[in-house]
Amino acid sequence: MSLAGAYESSNIFAKIIRGEMSCAKVYEDDEVISFMDIFPQSPGHCLVVPRNVEARNLLDFPPERLGALFQRVQKVAAGVVKALNPDGLMITQFNGAPAGQTVFHLHVHIIPRYGNLPLERHHGAKMADMDALREQASRIAAAIGA
Ligand code: AMP
Repeated sequence: MSLAGAYESSNIFAKIIRGEMSCAKVYEDDEVISFMDIFPQSPGHCLVVPRNVEARNLLDFPPERLGALFQRVQKVAAGVVKALNPDGLMITQFNGAPAGQTVFHLHVHIIPRYGNLPLERHHGAKMADMDALREQASRIAAAIGA
């Protein structure tokens, strides 16, 4: 899918927002839901997804909500740092299939980095164990709430 096109409400993240698919939830409020990426590029890789909006990518997203979205990205990132103590953090966001986007509902990746631990390739990682993801999610959630 290119940058242009119609929003399709059958995408995976729309299903997670509607509660039709499960996720290892980290955080949610009126603006976003955040959950663990099931193909983590690094331990603690999570996603922040805006809700109540039909935006395939950054260009579709209402500019007046960008501040609120990135406040949540910062909040979850701070929770990741507190819970998992990484040495660095990558914040990434892809727009359009040629840029690497595979789920066409706007989302922001938070990818912790640990010393020289290599990063799994984007879309090259193994599916994580759901129990392990839920355990990480609850540690991050506790750190956000603390
Ligand atoms: P992108 O390539 O930026 O569109 O990222 C989509 C991300 O969603 C990838 O990193 C996938 O591993 C991740 N992903 C796909 N399906 C799910 C799912 N059901 N729950 C959590 N993460 C998912």
